[in-house]
Amino acid sequence: MRVRFAPSPTGALHIGGIRTAICNYLLARRHNGVFILRIEDTDQNRYVPGAEAYIIESLKWCGLTPDEGPGFGGDYGPYRQSERMDIYREYAEDLIAKGEAYYAFDTPEELEAEREKAKAAGNHAWKYDAVSRETMRNSLTLSEAETRKWIDSGAAYVIRLKVPVGRTVHIRDEIRGDVHFQTEELDDKVMLKADGMPTYHLANVVDDHLMKITHVIRGEEWLPSTAHHVLLYQAFGWEDTMPVFAHLPLILKPDGKGKLSKRDGVRLGIPVFPISWKGETAEDSFTGFREAGFDPRALVNFLALLSWNPGTEQELFSREELIAAFSLDKVGKAGARFDIEKAKWFNQQYLLNSSPAELAALARPFLAEQGFQPDENYLQAVCGLMRERVTLLTDFGAEAAYFFGPVRHFDTASIAKKWNPERKPALEDLGKRLAGHSEWKADSIKALVEAWVESSGVKFGEILPLFRLALAGTMKGPGVFEMMEVLGSATVQERWQFALDHFDQTGII
Ligand code: GLU
Repeated sequence: MRVRFAPSPTGALHIGGIRTAICNYLLARRHNGVFILRIEDTDQNRYVPGAEAYIIESLKWCGLTPDEGPGFGGDYGPYRQSERMDIYREYAEDLIAKGEAYYAFDTPEELEAEREKAKAAGNHAWKYDAVSRETMRNSLTLSEAETRKWIDSGAAYVIRLKVPVGRTVHIRDEIRGDVHFQTEELDDKVMLKADGMPTYHLANVVDDHLMKITHVIRGEEWLPSTAHHVLLYQAFGWEDTMPVFAHLPLILKPDGKGKLSKRDGVRLGIPVFPISWKGETAEDSFTGFREAGFDPRALVNFLALLSWNPGTEQELFSREELIAAFSLDKVGKAGARFDIEKAKWFNQQYLLNSSPAELAALARPFLAEQGFQPDENYLQAVCGLMRERVTLLTDFGAEAAYFFGPVRHFDTASIAKKWNPERKPALEDLGKRLAGHSEWKADSIKALVEAWVESSGVKFGEILPLFRLALAGTMKGPGVFEMMEVLGSATVQERWQFALDHFDQTGII
């Protein structure tokens, strides 16, 4: 099996593109096949600098590293279509030689005039096809000598596929079953443009053939193009090596109404791109799943399940399990609703099931963003405490910052409620006991506090919230004694003293 992911570098890669890459990758791995990255950059008008690097970084972040591709090696390169230009012209000419394509000299203005004429006559869907080609200026209506003259004069021309008349094109799609198109529905698509560049159709089919692609797995929006692709395989005489096609269903908006677009991301404040993209304008800049605090393993698991139903209740799949279980026959035809809450659930599960070391590695960049560079052992200890409490990796910066630096924010309303100035002498005494305690372990600290509670007359239930507020500034967080153990004796003493000095002032800190 040889599969390819063939994005066009026209901007940030939408999450649907990543889903396509995932399906290709999983199938390649499952069948000991090859996963290829091909950059389809023949449309210079839509080329966006930086987009290719973005695509590669996104794939790497998701752990979908290609076996062949630009910068990845492989025997079928170059893998950037812009570096294969000579090949396409040769194949376009070959189609002409075979009588399967023709030169067309019509100018854009002439084509527009035809369209207008048809519109005036009530036909809004004029196309260049078996009927209209008879009246246009092309190598089918001109004599051979005239055609030569036009070409030699330097006139602009395109090469069009001569779609045969009266045929049914049969596409065998692994997800959709048999799909048929009548050739009357199809236009004589341009294969080579006036500037000598191939169109998507020609370059895509020629490359799939030359790169020995066995399975074409791509988004549903390419299904109509497949009719032309099948005709091209036939025109070249490549039917025997025609790949298997599979068109993945659309990813729908969270409300299920229509295709998920990048605008939905902005509108709903949710990521729809794998990693952040900085376009030229603010409207063209988007936050990615990575920057929103997602673990790439969770994103891949979530996206794999968007249209694929494993047939069991299982939702969490390791990479190996996905590879073993994924198959096209369990991919549904219906569009899959994009549910960000579900994506977050996956993320939470992955963080929860991570070892402290894994979690530390994931959290570190988010802490660095806040200026924190914690010691590895310390960070792992914090991760051990926080992993049940985080959904996104950004939660570390937002909810665990007090482990890495002074408390920045105090919940003053709770302090006002829990603080009783009359207790201050007793609490100072507790502080001294803590300072003198040498066995700095959660259980042992707890035992000390419990013993102190017995003798002091202050209730355990009064002390706990004050510890929380003093140490973390908030009532939320992991167990108080575990938190104390991790923070260490010196920090606990310091924060406790700070609380005693400041909690009875109004408008604390
Ligand atoms: N270049 C096309 C894209 O941008 C490739 C579609 C295909 O896989 O054939 O998605």
